[in-house]
Amino acid sequence: MKGLIFDIRRFTIHDGPGIRTTIFFKGCPLRCIWCHNPESQRPEIEAIETETRLDGREFKKKLSVGQLMTVEEVFKEIKKDRIFSEESHGGVTFSGGEPMMQIVFLKNLLERCVAEGIHTTVDTCGYATPENYTDIAAQTNLFLYDLKQMDDQLHRKITGKSNAIILDNLKTLASLGKEIVIRFPFIPGLTSGTENVKAMIQFIKKLPGDLPSVQILPYHSLANNKYERLQMLNEIRNIPEVDQEDLLRTQKLFRKAGISILS
Ligand code: SF4
Repeated sequence: MKGLIFDIRRFTIHDGPGIRTTIFFKGCPLRCIWCHNPESQRPEIEAIETETRLDGREFKKKLSVGQLMTVEEVFKEIKKDRIFSEESHGGVTFSGGEPMMQIVFLKNLLERCVAEGIHTTVDTCGYATPENYTDIAAQTNLFLYDLKQMDDQLHRKITGKSNAIILDNLKTLASLGKEIVIRFPFIPGLTSGTENVKAMIQFIKKLPGDLPSVQILPYHSLANNKYERLQMLNEIRNIPEVDQEDLLRTQKLFRKAGISILS
């Protein structure tokens, strides 16, 4: 069996506890306007144009994005970093794109890691069947779970899909007692409004089990030129920079509600 992977990053420190190896799966069911990894969205190998300048001349070439790998090949990469992850109480994070889109491949990898005592994290947008989440719950130590917009109409507009299944799956994982960190992409004008933040807080506080922490991910425009290189519609260029006062106000709202913020 092979999975489609678009990147493997070593020594990551923001994708779960300790030092981690992050495996990026290719393919995502959502189309978030601000996505900073647009090359992760299509579930196929594709070409991206790169430019280099030398002596005032511009050279263009096409790079292939995405690689088919077996479970053993990916696991071999994970094991290379084991000494660092063990020392730092880290592990492996499966991210994307959306790892749940390749559920059988993901489950195989999770089982392989669990058998070797490697801490596992799944970073997910929440858009998959409830059965798939319950299927991998036992092999997943931590879920990094995206919440973006609580208003369903707005959610459809900015991601292309309803939030109903995402909210339901989060309740399911919480009721199973799983450790969860909510990831909140803080996107000016799209998710950053106080009404959305307050609705999110209310929803989180009603989840069964321990109150999850929240990691706020402030928008940045670094991916801007990737869209042109992939010949994709670029809506990211219309998003303003994050207002730091707004961000601080939002952090305060979460803290006031007793929800801890991870940096
Ligand atoms: S869920 Fe993540 S990877 Fe998928 S489109 Fe949205 S930002 Fe991009």
